[in-house]
Amino acid sequence: MYNFDISADEIKSLYEKSVSEFEDKIKKILFVKKEDRNFNNTVKAFENALADLHYSINIPIFLAYVSTDSNVRNAATEFELKIGKYFVDIFTREDIFNVIDDYSKNIKEDLDEVDKRLLDKIIYAFKKNGLYGDKKTRKKVKELLKKLVELEIEFGKNIRETRDYIEVDEKSLKGLDENYIKRLRKNENGKYIITTDYPDYIPFMDNSNDDEARKALEIKFNNRCYPKNVEILEEAIKIRRKIAKLLNYKNFADYVLEDRMAKNSDKVFEFLSKLFKDLKKKGKKELKELIKIRNREMNIDDKTLYNWQWRYYANIYKKENFSIDYEKLREYFPLEFVISGMFDVFSKFFGVRFIEKPLPKWHYDVRTYEVYDSNNNLIAYFYFDLFPREGKYKHAACFGIVKGRELKDGTYQIPAAAIVSNFTPPTSNNPSLLKFDEVVTLFHEFGHVTHNIFTKSKYAFFSGTSVSRDFVEVPSQVLENWVYDKDVLKKISSHYITKEPLGEDIIRKIIEAKNATSGLFYLRQLFFAFLDMVYHTKKSSFDTTEIYKKLMKKIFMIPMTEHTHPQASFGHIMGGYEAGYYSYLWSEVISSDFFEEFKKNGIFNPEVGKRYIEKVLSKGGSIDEEKQLRDFLGRDLSHEAFLKRIGLKG
Ligand SMILES: [Zn+2]
Repeated sequence: MYNFDISADEIKSLYEKSVSEFEDKIKKILFVKKEDRNFNNTVKAFENALADLHYSINIPIFLAYVSTDSNVRNAATEFELKIGKYFVDIFTREDIFNVIDDYSKNIKEDLDEVDKRLLDKIIYAFKKNGLYGDKKTRKKVKELLKKLVELEIEFGKNIRETRDYIEVDEKSLKGLDENYIKRLRKNENGKYIITTDYPDYIPFMDNSNDDEARKALEIKFNNRCYPKNVEILEEAIKIRRKIAKLLNYKNFADYVLEDRMAKNSDKVFEFLSKLFKDLKKKGKKELKELIKIRNREMNIDDKTLYNWQWRYYANIYKKENFSIDYEKLREYFPLEFVISGMFDVFSKFFGVRFIEKPLPKWHYDVRTYEVYDSNNNLIAYFYFDLFPREGKYKHAACFGIVKGRELKDGTYQIPAAAIVSNFTPPTSNNPSLLKFDEVVTLFHEFGHVTHNIFTKSKYAFFSGTSVSRDFVEVPSQVLENWVYDKDVLKKISSHYITKEPLGEDIIRKIIEAKNATSGLFYLRQLFFAFLDMVYHTKKSSFDTTEIYKKLMKKIFMIPMTEHTHPQASFGHIMGGYEAGYYSYLWSEVISSDFFEEFKKNGIFNPEVGKRYIEKVLSKGGSIDEEKQLRDFLGRDLSHEAFLKRIGLKG
């Protein structure tokens, strides 16, 4: 059992304590005589020191996101920042690198596959930070990396702090939900204020029938942080190019990708180009449909659909063709029923039991579970923290709180994971009724949970979700597929009054509506992925706006609005997804193919569930992800399942 009752004072003193414990372990590693150096006292010892450090800091950091006490949250946030910087220092330390590098060059023992991989990955982490070059290069790379961190933080901070908005009359709100209108602020003249924040922006672009107002808001939205963030981005791209050059990579994308499934930028371009070819036709057809509706509605004849129009007309298209009332749909998804249905499906499939048990927790609303395997061994702890409250994390996510790993005494550290979300809470009259999107989110996050709780990884370094960035979303996307299955939808739906499951007709519509505009949706994703790759493979300076404009028209087929600078708020490429945006599509192709394999053998078939755990989930990052994929599928990856899933092939 794990303890979440940690005070702000305890957290404040934790930095000194955990760092000094870690440093003691490092000292021991450094002191080993050259002739005595081996895997256990060097590489494994370093991994264990890191794992112990993570173990002592993970729950305190988690409290920054979920604690009900603002003092604890503040102390934990500060702690997270400080320890984050300390981690940068660890992987730029020459003393540690030198002993590990020295060991790797004089190995006198046979290492198994996983140990060998651990050594490679650790060396690679140092290498990426410049520790393979000469003294001058090391110094230069470290400087550039630190500068880059500053630029990335500033870029993100600028986005969070934008306060742009437009002011509109009531007539511009036609088509918008009454709850949306109710919570809008007004200025002194009684006009409504629509900000560029997502909860304002997206519903407005989806539903307002005022074309001018949508255009005005889109221009504001896509000029967020202009010009300062364009400067910052271009500076960052330049620095990234320098780092790649200093470390002898062809370009920055190749520097990032060496360690990923994709391996290099050529492979990514090839992947994206193939998808573009597959998607173009469907996208064009959808675009034509939307233009037809737009011309009809606005009584014009224009061959271009604009960036402030596609969301709105895609929405109308869906309403006209599928007539799904998503508000009514939630009545079929009472939270309790969905959760028990989900547990029912997956406990059979994975051959485990989820038992609700009172465990220490951080808030009385939190539900706590123990997970048992078929031999009745306790294998994991699992927590649900489902409803919004003040100061809590604002999105939905799975937190791996404790990583599974082999301990020194030979026992296995029991992993713990939590889903933290902000689902619609119950009221005095109604139970919590989930939106369909929330049901999908629940399954998605539960997919990350499966990665965490079924891990059998020897090392924390490879445990659970510690896999390559372009593989990490696979288990979560895999489970999303279950939601769109007819039998599963019946199992997890029950009208909160009549207790009826969803009817065949509505189920069919839900599945069809999902793909109604999938062509355009995925072309847009492709555009972002291409843009990111082009930005990070250019050989010399360039104008980020020009490239944006050119690629958007070519790939998404909808032109960039004049005088906008959307790249100034493209947070992904300044926040960990640089040369990585393709990962979303990459892992979706894999997860679709996996699901095809599940379907072939029955998505309730425990034999397949067992194989999936054995070949994929239990491994984490300890086996090459490409190999896991082949081991599970028994063949190479194919794009067919993905194309079928998004409605491209029968
Ligand atoms: Zn995810």
